[in-house]
Amino acid sequence: MPSYNILLLPGDGIGPEVAAEVEKVMRLLDEAGIGSFAVERDLVGGAAYDAHGVPVTDAAVALAKAADAVLFGAVGGPKWDGVGYAVRPEAGLLRLRKDLGLFANLRPAICYPALAESSSLKRELVEGLDILIVRELTGGVYFGEPKEVVTLESGEKRAVDTQVYTSGEIDRIARVAFDLARTRRNKVSSAEKRNVMKSGVLWNEVVTAVGRADYPDVELDHVLADNCAMQLVRRPKQYDVIVTDNLFGDILSDVAAMLTGSLGMLPSASLGAPNAEGRRASLYEPVHGSAPDIAGQQIANPLAMIGSLAMALRYSLGRGEIADRLEGAIGDVLGSGSRTTDIAGPGRNAIGTAGMGDAVVSALKARLD
Ligand code: NAD
Repeated sequence: MPSYNILLLPGDGIGPEVAAEVEKVMRLLDEAGIGSFAVERDLVGGAAYDAHGVPVTDAAVALAKAADAVLFGAVGGPKWDGVGYAVRPEAGLLRLRKDLGLFANLRPAICYPALAESSSLKRELVEGLDILIVRELTGGVYFGEPKEVVTLESGEKRAVDTQVYTSGEIDRIARVAFDLARTRRNKVSSAEKRNVMKSGVLWNEVVTAVGRADYPDVELDHVLADNCAMQLVRRPKQYDVIVTDNLFGDILSDVAAMLTGSLGMLPSASLGAPNAEGRRASLYEPVHGSAPDIAGQQIANPLAMIGSLAMALRYSLGRGEIADRLEGAIGDVLGSGSRTTDIAGPGRNAIGTAGMGDAVVSALKARLD
């Protein structure tokens, strides 16, 4: 039986509540003989700050580097609003992303048929939607230098952010997108603003060159990022994999997220470069935050966290068929009418966090038998 070394970082707020449910799923996979899941736990975010004065310790970062996959809950909350900028809870996640070199952020937007009514778009536009946004995570305008606010001689202030990409950075994110497209419907749409930005021109050139040289079997099209935003709400099912930079990816992935209904449903993955053995550092987390408004009430939806485990099974543990079954189990549970408060809609009874976790475990059990 293959064994997997998982680091679980529950974090703050609803993080520990949803993490408890993903542990149940791993326990089932272990008991069912799918794999031996050795799960280590550590603190991150405000919880780590309270215990150690830092939002993630060097020891936790070392565990994350050694793990086959990191499962991360959520960090932050009003309790830590006053702590120093460098040690705020979110800095723990940023350090993990940086130290693990997680340059590729994968955000699927899948619309389960049972939830098509929760989308802000018409059912026929979103039912069966399955797109994947691949966002460059460590470059671009969020990190480019200079990045400053200066006071001019006139007394006016001037703010500068710098959009900067090297061909190497574009090449490696393009390859992630092409590789993933091969496991899906074999189509990549690359979004940039080559009409007004030099970085967009280079982005377009490099993605085209990588596609021609090494992925001639994958269909590639180019779309201006603003048009992509429009197309995502007009006809989202035209897309398979969308690859884009840090800024556009931030925006486009939030648009895509809302197509599917609730924040509580959305998993994500962040991947690093493969090492000599082909293993990538990786961190899987729900898109939502620590939801302090509902923390401690056992009403959070654990499906984004459980969906993050499905992504880990597919992208880090080489168990795509088990990932399919886990996602199928989530679909079964939703199809049977079980809902947490966030997806229940008016007039429908809701179950709690543990109830939803238990329902996924029994549906998965049925799919494993
Ligand atoms: P949030 O995602 O925590 O919550 C937004 C809204 O969605 C809230 O009403 C919340 O109750 C609801 N919600 C979120 N997840 C849910 C779930 N699983 N089930 C049901 N409802 C859910 O965003 P926010 O309120 O802007 O931020 C709260 C804290 O989380 C802040 O400290 C923020 O910095 C932090 N945050 C952390 C991360 C992360 O850890 N990656 C991401 C975003 C925000």
